[in-house]
Formats: sequence, structure tokens, C-alpha cells
Amino acid sequence: MGGDDTTYDHIVVGGGLCGCVVAARTKHSFPDRTVALIEIGSDARKSRTLGGGSAVNYGAWTRGDRSGYDEWATTVGDERWSYNGRLPYFKRAETYPLLQDKNNHGYEGPIHLSSGGRGYPLRDHVRDAMLAVRLPFNPDHNCGNSHGVSPLVESWHDGDRSFAAKTYGLNGVKLFTDSQVATVMVRQKKVTGIRLVNNRTLHARIETIVSCGAIRTPQLLTLSGIGRSDELARLEIPVQVESEEMGWNLHDHPSLSFWSPPRTPEAGLAVGSDNFMANSKNLDGKPMDWFSNASASQLEMGNAAKVDGRPSLREDDIEISCIADPFDQPVVDPNYLGTEHDRAVLRASVRLALKIMESPAGKRVVNSELPPSQFSPLNSKSSDDVLDERIRAGA
Ligand SMILES: Cc1cc2nc3c(=O)[nH]c(=O)nc-3n(C[C@H](O)[C@H](O)[C@H](O)COP(=O)(O)OP(=O)(O)OC[C@H]3O[C@@H](n4cnc5c(N)ncnc54)[C@H](O)[C@@H]3O)c2cc1C
Repeated sequence: MGGDDTTYDHIVVGGGLCGCVVAARTKHSFPDRTVALIEIGSDARKSRTLGGGSAVNYGAWTRGDRSGYDEWATTVGDERWSYNGRLPYFKRAETYPLLQDKNNHGYEGPIHLSSGGRGYPLRDHVRDAMLAVRLPFNPDHNCGNSHGVSPLVESWHDGDRSFAAKTYGLNGVKLFTDSQVATVMVRQKKVTGIRLVNNRTLHARIETIVSCGAIRTPQLLTLSGIGRSDELARLEIPVQVESEEMGWNLHDHPSLSFWSPPRTPEAGLAVGSDNFMANSKNLDGKPMDWFSNASASQLEMGNAAKVDGRPSLREDDIEISCIADPFDQPVVDPNYLGTEHDRAVLRASVRLALKIMESPAGKRVVNSELPPSQFSPLNSKSSDDVLDERIRAGA
């Protein structure tokens, strides 16, 4: 079906990582339909551009653990969200030259993956130190089992990032860049199209997909009257559809960095040394060779649940609230460390990192931790209070 310039079969709002994939795949699957992709930005130095986060992210290629997807499937009662349900799509996305394993990997997808090969001088020392604390070696963390120490896999290919707007061909997709969507238009609880901030409207015959990222999506929906009744009342926005979870339940991954000076700086093992810089490949992609996932112990999680009074996060989770103006930034209260669960998980990971440094293989290359000026060096026996203080200062 053809389209005039205000009506499209599919409208995708937000030309970021997901929006590019959805628009490209939709056009590819239904060549006769019209697809519009609307992106606020065109500045490639920020993630506000076609491609979104894929223009600035690290490109670590990390498929989640099977258990997480299976939990989704159980929660929504739909097997398509299970690991096995997702597997055909994981495979379709990738060209995985690292292992021959057709059960788990794809070899014809648009995203070409690579893994290290950088030959960092500390590569073997770091792996040995992680194995020394009984993290299992896992040759492939992208096969549904993400536990253990694995070579980091990246969506970088020949020194280039996989930029979604390029990797997924947008041929035939009508692109609107420098175009900010102010609201989706709702009639009788159905989204009928979008309104840009300059008041121009576009109509959707089949569907409107909002993929403005984890923070801007709830903002846009709230400004459109789809959201929590209390928030909409506060903003004086007429309610179109009540959705009491809007702006809640964002999960984030705060990170902490620890620095340990090398025992023998003259050996040239560190970033910046001639030894490191000699291999130009060392400067490609993310400067990291290993990827490691570990679980906190049941005892630690059980104790945290006793303090929190429940086993997992819910109402104390991250909150995003909005200001009734599409040009304003939404207010994000990340509520990091707001529960004992949060604190226990971070303490367990910090202790594990310190144990890795304290292992015989770790001690061969680094001295104890080099703390920020007002703190003493941490070790794996540091008390919960001391760890909490450092985590609060750095998370
Ligand atoms: C520094 C950094 C490092 C990361 N590293 C990794 C990594 O190593 N591995 C990994 O898997 N993930 C990583 N991520 C996360 C990954 O980039 C995101 O999960 C991914 O980009 C999310 O895709 P998305 O399409 O949902 O959102 P985005 O890619 O953010 O796209 C949203 C798009 O919507 C546009 N938009 C917003 N509001 C509007 C509006 N009102 N109208 C029109 N357009 C709008 C934005 O400009 C943006 O282009 C990283 C993220 C960051 C920031």
C-alpha cells in the first residue's frame, strides 16, 4: 500500500538501536507497506542520532542467561519470550565467527562479532587470577549460560563499531531526523499516530512503536496521557490510558572501578607502556579481554531479603517522573543502594574483585588496591560498613 506524506502503515518513534532494527526488519518483511522512522537528533557525538546508543556504547555482545528469559516467559505466560523462543532471533542478528555451534549461534546475520585478539600483556594473568577464585571457565557466555569467565565478545568488526543505522539497511524506510515527537495521539485507548513538537501530525494505519529508550519512552507516553494516574493528575494531563507501572522498574547496572598499581611497573604491563601500545589492535573496541558473571550466595541474598522483608525489588525501584514539557529532562531517581538487596549484591561483587587481586596469580602482578585519597585500601576481609561507604562514594 502506498502512502501520502502524513500517513504510514507503521510509525517507529526513536531511531535508536531498537528503532533501526524494528523499522528495517518491518520494511524487509512487508516491502509493500510504508514505514516511517522518526528520530529527534542528528548529532553522532551523543546517542541522540540515528542508531542511538549504538553510536556511543561499548559494543559488548552479551546474551542474557537462559533463566532470565525463561522467567519472562513464565511471568507473561508466553513461551515466545523464553530463551528457546528468543533463540532464532539471537541467531538471526549475528555472524559469529568465534565458535562453530549452529545450535546456539548464527552465521549470516548483519552484526559481525569479534573477540579480543588484542594480546594485552596482562591477559593470561587476569584470567588465571579469576580462575583462582573458582570462577569456572566458560568458553561461550552467549549460549544461555552466562556464568563464569569468558573471552569478551564485541559487536566490533575490523575496528568498526556495529552502528545500527548502517548495519540494518534502512532502504525504503521514510526517515525523519531532527524531528522530536511531542506525544503519541490516542483515540479510544488506541494510538493513532504521533504529533511532532512543531505540531505536525503523522498517522499510522497499522501501528505506532515507541522505542525512545528506557528513559524517554515513559516520558513520551506520560506526556501523551498514558501513565500513572497520580503523575498525570500532578502534570494536569488528561488520562488516556492508566498504566500504574509507567516509570517504575527500570533496572540499571551501576559500576565501580578499582585501581591496583602493578608490582613491577618496569615490566611494561600497564596501559600506556610501550609494550601495550606496540600492538595497534589493543586500541580497538573496549579495552577489556575477559567478561565474568558470578552469583551472590544464597546466604547473602537470604539475609538481604530478611532486612528488606521481601525477596526482590519492587516499589523502591528506580522511578522516572516527568515534567509536562517535552523539552525538559525527565527526573530520574535511581534509588541506587536503596535496599539491602542492592547493597548485598554490590558488596559481594566488590569482595569477589578484591579476592581476584589477592589470589596468587593476582598478587604476582599487582599490589594492594590504590584507594581515592580519603579512603584506606580495601581487602576482601573489609567490613560491610567499610565496603558500603566506599560503594556509596563511587557507585
Ligand atoms: C555509555 C554506554 C555504554 C553501553 N555499553 C553497552 C554494551 O557494551 N553492550 C550493550 O549491549 N549495551 C550497551 N549499552 C546499552 C545500549 O546502548 C542500549 O541498551 C540500547 O542503545 C537501547 O536501545 P534503544 O533503542 O532502546 O534506545 P536508544 O538506543 O537510546 O535509542 C533511543 C532513540 O530515541 C531517540 N528519541 C528519544 N526521544 C525521542 C523523541 N521524543 N522523539 C524522537 N526520537 C526520540 C533518541 O535520540 C535515540 O536515538 C550502553 C549504553 C551506554 C549509554
